[in-house]
Amino acid sequence: MIGQEHVLRALINALDNDRLHHAYLFTGTRGVGKTTVARIFAKSLNCEKGITYSPCGVCSACTEIDQGRFVDLIEVDAASRTKVEDTRELLENVQYAPTRGRFKVYLIDEVHMLSTHSFNALLKTLEEPPPHVKFLLATTDPQKLPVTILSRCLQFNLKRMAPEMIAGHLEYVLGEEGISFDKPAIAQISEGADGSMRDALSLLDQAIAYGGGKLVDDEVRAMLGTVDRRHVYKLLQGLADADAASILETINGLAQQGVDFTAVLAELVSQLHKLALAQVVPQTAEGLAEQEAITALAQAIPQEDIQLYYQIGLIGRRDLPFAPELRSGFEMIMLRMLAFRPDASSQSGLQQTQIQTSNTAPKQVSQKNSQPPVVTSKAYSNTASAAPVKSAIAERGPAVTGSWHKIVAQLGLKGMAQQLAANSEMISRDNGVIRLALSSQHASLRRKSLEMQLQAALQTYFGEPIKLEFSIAAGTQTQHTPAVIDKRQAENKQQAAVDAINADPNVRRIQESFNAQVVTDSVRPIE
Ligand SMILES: [Zn+2]
Repeated sequence: MIGQEHVLRALINALDNDRLHHAYLFTGTRGVGKTTVARIFAKSLNCEKGITYSPCGVCSACTEIDQGRFVDLIEVDAASRTKVEDTRELLENVQYAPTRGRFKVYLIDEVHMLSTHSFNALLKTLEEPPPHVKFLLATTDPQKLPVTILSRCLQFNLKRMAPEMIAGHLEYVLGEEGISFDKPAIAQISEGADGSMRDALSLLDQAIAYGGGKLVDDEVRAMLGTVDRRHVYKLLQGLADADAASILETINGLAQQGVDFTAVLAELVSQLHKLALAQVVPQTAEGLAEQEAITALAQAIPQEDIQLYYQIGLIGRRDLPFAPELRSGFEMIMLRMLAFRPDASSQSGLQQTQIQTSNTAPKQVSQKNSQPPVVTSKAYSNTASAAPVKSAIAERGPAVTGSWHKIVAQLGLKGMAQQLAANSEMISRDNGVIRLALSSQHASLRRKSLEMQLQAALQTYFGEPIKLEFSIAAGTQTQHTPAVIDKRQAENKQQAAVDAINADPNVRRIQESFNAQVVTDSVRPIE
């Protein structure tokens, strides 16, 4: 058994400590070894040398189980025996002691295929199992089993096997058989097997027959119809170098070989995934047949580019069938990757899109730092991008920035004293008396110590003795406190930046091409 150590350990412990359950359920995708585990377990239970996790393999029980003719191992494929009569017939003899072995073992594969009546018949036996009976159930689809059955089984989930693990086993098998092989050929088979060791071994058989007793990369590729990775790496190298000519040349070569561009695109996307993994965890490339190529490309292409290519590739897979012909569709996808590379786009103006302070609306702007940002783009600085920003300014207009706002900014106050000043509004100042209206939400800031700090700062500012008089005003009456003005200005800046992004022709094109959305919260005005 390869790659199911977690299941084996649990079974070995149970056998070692003589803690045997009467029903076991093995789950997992096809070909991961469910019935293989079950058969080994049946041998463990019935080996003539005693209950053991390492059955001898030579006694008559062991050999008969191997040959599929052990009378006390009753194997059923539920997919072909779903009728209730079948199950009844099957379970009829359950009460009788085993003929030869220690236990009567029922191995029911694809158990989820049983009918409701059959489940009921099975359930009855599971509720009161005779001591000499063991049920080994296997299924790819445990969700289809009634809870009443599930709850009476000890469940083991067998994992899909990683390609590297399959490759390791295939190499071992080939070594034992003395068959020569190319490493990339093994990699192709292990990946083609999709997690199933059974499929991998059967593909291996076919490939050896196809290759006349050898395992050769090109022949395996021809057999599996897979794409030569070297071409895919050439395409990726073309992306890394921004070399459109080389990419088109590679595509031309592929077209002459008559490859399926759908498969090429799938392979490209899957290699981009490997590159992304190798960038964050370099060890993931270790042991892969193409480790060198992956490592080099992972270093050559920036992370964000890989993410972008991957996204374009995925959407390309969806759209490729709509292209008039696959080759041209594939070419467009590759060219799109080039066109939208973050640093390539600077040639088309995207990178030069920057938020600058503008002097287009000097009348509304009274303070140096309160100017709303405006997007200009060298390539697209036309009215289309500038107009919405202007109108945004006109509509919202910076608030009247009273002198109190300026004064507070220059007082150099910190902390709560600053908050007291920022949430107040100056009503009047005459004869050394400054009357302030404090917003009612911040009434708690009216404390003697804070007032004295503010008073001292104001005396320094005006160069004369100052007396402060506070009144508390409702929130609606304090629309011009420095805090409110700052907040409004920040909102205006933010809104102007959002408007500018939304109006930007490059952004629009990205939205149209990729069905993209601007994440408004992520837009930040640049000071
Ligand atoms: Zn044995």
